[in-house]
Amino acid sequence: MTTSRQNDPIVGIDLGTTNSLVAYCDEKGPRILPSPEGQHLLPSVVRFDEQGNPAAIGTEARRHAVEHPTRTVFSVKRLMGRSRDDVAGELAYLPYEVVAGDQNTARVKVGDRVLSPQEISAMILRELRRWAESALGTTVRRAVITVPAYFDDAQRQATRDAGRIAGLEVLRIVNEPTAAALAYNIGLQPAKPSTVSLSTKFNAAACATPASCRDNSGDVADASPDTAPSQIVAVFDLGGGTFDVSILRLAHTQQGIVDQVLATAGDTHLGGDDVDRLIVESLQRDIQSQFGQHIAFPPATRQAFRNLAEAAKIRLSDEKEAKIEIDLGNGRSFQRTITRDELEQMVQPWVQRAIDCCRLALKAAKLTHENIDRVILVGGSTRMPVVRRAVAEAFVTDPYTALNPDEVVALGAAVQASVLAGTNRQVLLLDVIPLSLGIETLGGAVAKLIMANSTIPARATEMFTTHVEGQTNVSIHVLQGERELVKDCRSLGRFDLRGIPPMPAGLPKINVTFLIDANGILNVMAEEQRSGKAARIQIIPNHGLTREEVARMENESFAHAQEDMSAHRLIDLKNQAKLDLRAIDRQLQRVADELDADYRREIGDKVAAVQTFLDTDTPDLDAFHHALDAMDKATVRLAEVAIRRTLSE
Ligand code: AMP
Repeated sequence: MTTSRQNDPIVGIDLGTTNSLVAYCDEKGPRILPSPEGQHLLPSVVRFDEQGNPAAIGTEARRHAVEHPTRTVFSVKRLMGRSRDDVAGELAYLPYEVVAGDQNTARVKVGDRVLSPQEISAMILRELRRWAESALGTTVRRAVITVPAYFDDAQRQATRDAGRIAGLEVLRIVNEPTAAALAYNIGLQPAKPSTVSLSTKFNAAACATPASCRDNSGDVADASPDTAPSQIVAVFDLGGGTFDVSILRLAHTQQGIVDQVLATAGDTHLGGDDVDRLIVESLQRDIQSQFGQHIAFPPATRQAFRNLAEAAKIRLSDEKEAKIEIDLGNGRSFQRTITRDELEQMVQPWVQRAIDCCRLALKAAKLTHENIDRVILVGGSTRMPVVRRAVAEAFVTDPYTALNPDEVVALGAAVQASVLAGTNRQVLLLDVIPLSLGIETLGGAVAKLIMANSTIPARATEMFTTHVEGQTNVSIHVLQGERELVKDCRSLGRFDLRGIPPMPAGLPKINVTFLIDANGILNVMAEEQRSGKAARIQIIPNHGLTREEVARMENESFAHAQEDMSAHRLIDLKNQAKLDLRAIDRQLQRVADELDADYRREIGDKVAAVQTFLDTDTPDLDAFHHALDAMDKATVRLAEVAIRRTLSE
């Protein structure tokens, strides 16, 4: 092996049934490598011409699949390393021809050509390699590729072969759920021992490969379960066409990251496609009843229906209702609004099938939900709120959702790649928080809830309120950094707390809680006490942050300490002044008739003094403070009168 080759990047690849992705992890953390056109997901679809030569890969192949059903190969992952007999049950779902090759292996016949699933997967891998080379600006020859935890040795070997055909040295085959866990830092650092006794957790009989454990190279390794601190993770992966749930134990041992698959369960034909089908069927029933006749829908129309149904389903993950409009030709059109409630009712049995699998997996692992340290969501269909709720209920814990569920496996594969390359970012996986975490407050200042160098896990709660009369929405902006103003900190994310009942400014009590767990995952929750309205966000604060950046941000905070403090103090004084002036104005309007002219003049003078400071860009802060104090003292009597009036009303 030449030196240059050893310095080649190692990429992580999620070779999926429906979509494939490539990612890379450098000192900033893992990121998806897009195509030169900016695409993140490569549909795992290859279209061949009449002669059996590849004609299109990815989006283009998927888009025209309906027109070329026998020459468009999708879901080839289902055939990898399997015999023709193994996949007999799949054939009803595959419009292309699957034949028996050497030793009865499953092969795809297109035109006159017979191809192995490995060769077709290699076409997808070669395309991803092209994306990676263009994004990284260098040759890519080494990769880590993920496979489902239940893949047997033949399926893993077929995946390695596909890599080799694509010109990639496959350094590791990693279980997909393990990759998802690595993306969330699980297994990267010696974890805190969990509350469950080890003897319960590592029941050998529950292991998929009893008395020994499969490590993430696909080889068998001794995980030394009694000594390695570890976490038990449930990974719930609900994609377009497949569902699986895996229960893993992940540990960081001297041999590196070791995963033990305690149990897997699933359904190779359960996914978001089923939901699309349910919506289409419901639409078709409505159309038939509206137009009172049997309408035959040609394949292209059926595909158009499926696309509309999928778009509506995706909208309903964020919105309460979605409108569907279909042009049926001959001047006929059909319209229907589907609500989220309707969709949730429609898919209830479908969700239940997935949840039943979770119970089976727990049972097979001889565990209960109490043994599970973390739950991770993978796959596009886990964006559906009904799915999230059901998973949270089944495991009695909030799942990890900070990462894009389509990307999490590829990101984790890239993390494993960086561990192999020796470029993993250990420094940012320490037990302390490198930079303070807080939220934006009125006027562009930052309220810090968790300070730099706090040990993790850490938790902090602070109360905030509104500053506008009748305000019903509050935007929570989460920030990281040592500086005092928003503009000098790193923005980590935003979310809205909606539906607060209208109240006077300053009355709502909004508790904001920051909770950073042992894996460094930050949960921010905001709850308005009176109405119980709540909203939350999950973030991985250290993603995208380099060691150099931490040092730079620390140094800047020292260099600007004085000016930052003044800027923050000015914002606080101005906020206070605005609140006080509003309150005084309100009280004056109510009780002016009870005040003598001299007293009103005195208040007027104090208010005018404060207003002058408010209107100045860089006022003297001590003088501003004194003016506020003076106004405060002068209005004590006003406040008393106002209270008396309120009591007597
Ligand atoms: P995957 O196989 O993981 O790429 O997942 C693809 C499936 O996720 C498809 O059925 C998509 O329709 C579905 N999907 C993607 N985004 C959403 C969303 N926001 N809400 C519901 N389903 C989604």
